[in-house]
Amino acid sequence: MESRQTIKPQHVVCIPFPSQGHINPMFKLAKILHAKGFHITFVNTEYNHQRLLKIRGPHSLDGLPDFRYETFPDGLPLSNIDDIQDKPSLCKSITENGTLPIRKIIKKLNNSVSSCVPPVTCIISDGCMSFTLDVAKEMDIPELLFWTPSACGFMCYLHYKDLMEKGLVPLKDNNYLVNGYLETTLNWIDGMSNIRLMDMPSFVRTTDINDIMLNFLMRESNRASCGTSIILNTFYTLEHSVLKAMASILPPIYDIGPLHLLYKEMVVQGDEKSDSGCYLMGSNLHLWKEDSKCLEWLNSKSLGSILYVNFGSITVITNQQMVEFAWGLCNSNKEFLWIIRPDLVRGDTAILPEEFLEKTKDRSFLTSWCPQEDVLGHPAIGGFLTHCGWNSMLESICNGVPMLCWPFFAEQQTNCRYSYMEWGIGLEIYNDVKREDVTILIIELMDGEKGREMRKNAQEWKVKAIAATQKGGTSFLKMEKLINEILTRF
Ligand code: UDP
Repeated sequence: MESRQTIKPQHVVCIPFPSQGHINPMFKLAKILHAKGFHITFVNTEYNHQRLLKIRGPHSLDGLPDFRYETFPDGLPLSNIDDIQDKPSLCKSITENGTLPIRKIIKKLNNSVSSCVPPVTCIISDGCMSFTLDVAKEMDIPELLFWTPSACGFMCYLHYKDLMEKGLVPLKDNNYLVNGYLETTLNWIDGMSNIRLMDMPSFVRTTDINDIMLNFLMRESNRASCGTSIILNTFYTLEHSVLKAMASILPPIYDIGPLHLLYKEMVVQGDEKSDSGCYLMGSNLHLWKEDSKCLEWLNSKSLGSILYVNFGSITVITNQQMVEFAWGLCNSNKEFLWIIRPDLVRGDTAILPEEFLEKTKDRSFLTSWCPQEDVLGHPAIGGFLTHCGWNSMLESICNGVPMLCWPFFAEQQTNCRYSYMEWGIGLEIYNDVKREDVTILIIELMDGEKGREMRKNAQEWKVKAIAATQKGGTSFLKMEKLINEILTRF
């Protein structure tokens, strides 16, 4: 395949859902396409754009002549950009208010066609932004949907409607949360074995038929088949049973993950590095300021000795849960790197016990945001205490790092189940976190027999992930096929 196009110039508009775990993989995909010669317009919400400018500097989003940024309002009242947005409100607001501004952007792009800006060839939108399909249809532009969760998580969302129709959810009353009902096995979901109601994405655990997130995900996943194709950030060997089953109910699927590895293969190491200029723009659009000093701290540590703790960009915990984790970490006597976002703790700022800080000061590094891909790739990291966000799990898998799983919400429960049942790389910490359990599981992960086994499995998945994204690998070939589809069909 030619690295820069010579045929008709193609213009792809990428519209991620405005949260970190969705922006990251979309940005990687956009940069791969750019490196392959596509003109890119990357669309952020105004709120995120302002946050990014504050963190990265005033000209950081000027882009390149053939990689431009556009912004649109998410419909929420303009708040202080340091205040985190409530996700259910954001989902509702963007769905209700997004169509008009996105239509305006696409029209504007097509009206400003010049020798530098080709007409819009296709839209790649987040699967959770299906309102963009209406704009695409109206303007006769093909749209591909990028679902950023794991295939297993996405498959669960695709079955929300069945759960409702079978009367399994919403729950009749709160007793159903505790009476063993959630252990019901859903053996009728093709491609997923032994999955239980409790492993379904968290939004089914409600008694409210009007629950915003339950209805949002059901509506969005029901529209998945309206896209021209589906893009998934996973790789065939990891999720082949689900992917095979999905293929019979959805348009063509491009499983092109892990995108951060494919990005390294196709952009950083590829021929494009020198001529696309895109490489210089960095590989991430982080909404928090990175503290890379933690990498220097890791440099002084021995191989596999550090437990890395990070609950991603959305998780919000209570101060009591944080205190349980703190003492669990302290009593394990392990060294650790703990990322505590300024908004991690509900209500007030995080307050860690003085005694904990004193006792662990010589064996810990605490900070508020880190370059996670680099951290997980550091040889000093021996384990990852994670909330099971899909990007975090993939980044851990790609570096052969086994996990302690404390799923928070959405499909993180499903990812957690797969980590121990299917992939053999995770141990679960129960939702009602207790310091004694945390300590026991940390020691098991870092020093125990199970930990050794999981590390071996994780190393094997790492090899498979690399193989999938290298020239000739399944994800590499799917990416070439996707590029070809855009070049020839649209
Ligand atoms: N991330 C990071 N530094 C941090 C925390 C998170 O770089 O301190 C990145 C992480 O590498 C991942 C993304 O933010 O790519 C979080 O996405 P994920 O799907 O894991 O979880 P979410 O934030 O959506 O819950």
